[in-house]
Amino acid sequence: MSRWRWLLADQLGPHFLDDDAQRVLLVETRSLFADRRLHRQKAHLILSALRHRAAELGDRARLVRADTFRQALTDLGEPVEMVHPPSRAALAFARTVEGLTVLPPRGFVTDRADFAAWADRRRGRLRMADFYRYARERHGVLADVPPPPRRPRRRPPVDVPPPPPIVEDDIDAQVRRDLDRWQVEGIRFVGRDGPRRYPATHAEAQVRLRHFLDHRLPAYAGTEGLLGDADGLLAQSVLSSSFNLGLLDPEPAIRAAERAGRDGTAPPAAVHRFVRGLFGWREFLWQLYWYFGPRFRGAGWLAANRPLPEWFDRLDADAVEARCLAGVLAGVRDTGWAPQTARLTVLGNYGLQRGWRPAELADWFGRSFVDGTDWIMNATVIGMSQYADLARIDTDPWAFDGAHLERAGAPCAGCRYVPKETLGDDACPYTGGFEAFLHRNRERLAGDPRLAAALAERTDPRRRDAVLAQEEKRGDDAP
Ligand SMILES: Cc1cc2nc3c(=O)[nH]c(=O)nc-3n(C[C@H](O)[C@H](O)[C@H](O)COP(=O)(O)OP(=O)(O)OC[C@H]3O[C@@H](n4cnc5c(N)ncnc54)[C@H](O)[C@@H]3O)c2cc1C
Repeated sequence: MSRWRWLLADQLGPHFLDDDAQRVLLVETRSLFADRRLHRQKAHLILSALRHRAAELGDRARLVRADTFRQALTDLGEPVEMVHPPSRAALAFARTVEGLTVLPPRGFVTDRADFAAWADRRRGRLRMADFYRYARERHGVLADVPPPPRRPRRRPPVDVPPPPPIVEDDIDAQVRRDLDRWQVEGIRFVGRDGPRRYPATHAEAQVRLRHFLDHRLPAYAGTEGLLGDADGLLAQSVLSSSFNLGLLDPEPAIRAAERAGRDGTAPPAAVHRFVRGLFGWREFLWQLYWYFGPRFRGAGWLAANRPLPEWFDRLDADAVEARCLAGVLAGVRDTGWAPQTARLTVLGNYGLQRGWRPAELADWFGRSFVDGTDWIMNATVIGMSQYADLARIDTDPWAFDGAHLERAGAPCAGCRYVPKETLGDDACPYTGGFEAFLHRNRERLAGDPRLAAALAERTDPRRRDAVLAQEEKRGDDAP
């Protein structure tokens, strides 16, 4: 008899098994949901995906409900193996379990030792664009298709068909009943429940991927930096939760996008944008997480030591008057997801300006988004959005004012705040917040060309004091 293969909730696709006979252990621990206040739809998705996988595998699988993983493994009492887990905490735990074999990672194209050799050669100058070039050459991805030059920003895409809906089944109904009961018993969630929006099985995820490649990918180029379109998805694939649950293997998805480019179904700029996200950014962040280890987490570089306010933590969009923030927060509350630019320029930017603690914000993203994942948070929230990683990845502080948000398509018309106003009752909280952020971090931003130039335009000390006083008074109240 082969060993049991223990599959975590991020390892639910076929590429985490070797053959059709393998015995599979799946463990559902209530403590995972009790310890952190997760988005209700995220909790639903995880449970639904685990239970669907158990149902698919039938007699080969054992789905164990236990208080802890250790208890489940002890109760099983037989040799177990697992694919390399996706977090340092899970790996540390695995190493404490006697007789548990950890196999190499799956679901990534690039190799850890290869990356380490590349990164060592670069002596700390780790830029995603360089990694993307290196990895494409190394793995023959879009090898003969150079990334097109950046294009001027376009208008949001129109008439892009939405992803096909998910049809819930009896497993989802049972998950909903269980979560309702847990809530009555005291487990707390954030966000609203709703029909399941995201794939819970490999088959559902494949349908979404195919649909994206055929219908949405062609419209995907040139939407960088935009905040919204008719369906709020900006032609993105909305597949991040499927990749992070391990339902989809990135490599075939990357190759399929390549083929769409070759067949002429999608323009090279769109193919590169998708592949850069999945093969560039995603692989790069995964490798950085392991390359730097715990050193990567939360260096307090900018003045950022305030706790997250309650209204933000609870996704209380109704408390917010600023239309852009209210809209994005409501989207997170109702769907557990937001497009990339909204995460950076509306959510992350607000926390950066207010000096919220990067690690708390990362935890919030991790709990509130269906795709929230520790190893990605590290670099995207701590690094990219809060600039607290000592600039280890290629980014400047993502601080922007209200005028920038308006140009990106924020719904400023009809908002009670005026994007260009810095001072006064109508001052946009992002515009006043941007200027106060510049002053508070004056010395630290001296080396950043864009922000140093913005500071150089704002030298009047009386105005500076007025902005700082106004924003201090505004504090962390919902804007
Ligand atoms: C503050 C902040 C927090 C984020 N947190 C997460 C997170 O917890 N989990 C997560 O998967 N992504 C995260 N991202 C990255 C990115 O926003 C999401 O992957 C993307 O918006 C998901 O939507 P999509 O599937 O439609 O992506 P698409 O634009 O269709 O891209 C395809 C796939 O590429 C990958 N990808 C694209 N961009 C990135 C990126 N910058 N970093 C890593 N992978 C990328 C994702 O797997 C995604 O599904 C975060 C970005 C920011 C700025």
